[in-house]
Amino acid sequence: MKIYNTLTKRKEEFIPIVPGEVRMYVCGPTVYNFFHIGNGRTFIVFDAVRRYLEYRGYKVKFVQNFTDIDDKMIKKANEENSTVKELGDKYISEYYKDADGLNIERATINPRATEFMSEIVDFVKDLIDRGFAYEVDGDVYFSTKSFKEYGKLSGQDLEELQAGARISVDERKRDPMDFAVWKKQKPCEPAWESPWGMGRPGWHIECSCMAHKLLGETIDIHAGGEDLVFPHHENEIAQSEARTGKPFANYWMHSAFINVNNQKMSKSLNNFFTAREVLKKYNPDVIRLFMLSGHYRTQLNFNEELLESSKAALDRLYNAIGNLESLLGEVKKEEISEEEKIYAAAINSYKDKYIEKMDDDFNTADGISVIFDLIRDVNTNINVNSSKELINLVLNLIRELGKPLGILQKSTKGSLEEEIEALIAQRQQARKDKNWALSDKIRDDLKSRGIILEDTPQGVRWKKA
Ligand code: AMP
Ligand code: ZN
Repeated sequence: MKIYNTLTKRKEEFIPIVPGEVRMYVCGPTVYNFFHIGNGRTFIVFDAVRRYLEYRGYKVKFVQNFTDIDDKMIKKANEENSTVKELGDKYISEYYKDADGLNIERATINPRATEFMSEIVDFVKDLIDRGFAYEVDGDVYFSTKSFKEYGKLSGQDLEELQAGARISVDERKRDPMDFAVWKKQKPCEPAWESPWGMGRPGWHIECSCMAHKLLGETIDIHAGGEDLVFPHHENEIAQSEARTGKPFANYWMHSAFINVNNQKMSKSLNNFFTAREVLKKYNPDVIRLFMLSGHYRTQLNFNEELLESSKAALDRLYNAIGNLESLLGEVKKEEISEEEKIYAAAINSYKDKYIEKMDDDFNTADGISVIFDLIRDVNTNINVNSSKELINLVLNLIRELGKPLGILQKSTKGSLEEEIEALIAQRQQARKDKNWALSDKIRDDLKSRGIILEDTPQGVRWKKA
């Protein structure tokens, strides 16, 4: 399996530290608001990565943090007249609602920064003791010059970075590129005790600390959105490697943005759609198919038209599943014939192709194309003369290939029944309204799909023709 590594800027063979196991850390949301569908892409992408690693037999320990203390949290808590703790509690629970709604598997651990204060303080102490950080009147800064490899992730050296940086307003820093690992308490801000007085951690230190604590000194994969390469991940590397002297993560993965009219979707540009807004209109399979139809390192535009075309594409997939399931009730042959075995082997080659694509840096776009090829093949070659065993084999394969993407797992039976009940209710309403044209149309449409309606004294019943 190959992974594109932002650190080396090339695709590399994936070799986990412990064979068969993967330790993976993804930077999670700052919990001061509902997350938008741009954040959602990052969560869905790495959920698919994790699911695929599991599909390939790895045991994955997946950590995704909640940033529950920072400037945005403090500002929002003040605006809402609540505390940072209450705000965090609220939006963490809202996060789970939306993430579950998007069919994102729960992480092995979702640590909150505020639950790791004593470990963070120890981390900062260690950096000072080793000469990588310095205190100035209650604030602690990481000295970027002391870490020789600073800039290696974003591919810039310190001098270039300095040239591009705005002149630091903070006169106390030794160097403009130094960054805060501990911030002295300002009036009315929540704070924790430390050897440097009351304060709170800088943003980057929480991820270094929690990854270290929960996954070890060197982890397999560290991931996040592309905006995190610099400074967040660059700074995480500096802190972590300064402390341990070991590589922090072997593979760095970054997912590209979702854009609206070619601009990054973001809270600050106010061009965002929350995940729950989108979920009201589209089911999670549609959203995931849309997200994963592009390679994760390619930016994706977001608009209604694209979602509609994903919806139509998904309908084609579920229709094929639904047809196969109906066929199961109609076919006469139970066991697979010799001739069908040859066809089954050919069908299985789609799985090999799918794995080949997905093994190549999680190319979900091509993986999805393989599923469509499979469906096309099956639509023309499976019919009432096929055996149950073959149909089941094909159905299992379609579901199997959908699973790492988090799609195609729904029952089509339940949804068909619900759909018919809904149409019957619409027809009843049409009859009440004396809209005979509509009520006849609904009945005829259903008939053409093999569904017969019977008006009985107990109400309308339906059966398959
Ligand atoms: P935040 O809550 O802003 O810290 O972001 C949480 C995650 O979403 C981070 O990994 C970001 O990189 C990612 N992210 C933010 N905006 C977008 C976007 N428009 N498209 C894709 N990922 C994003
Ligand atoms: Zn992080």
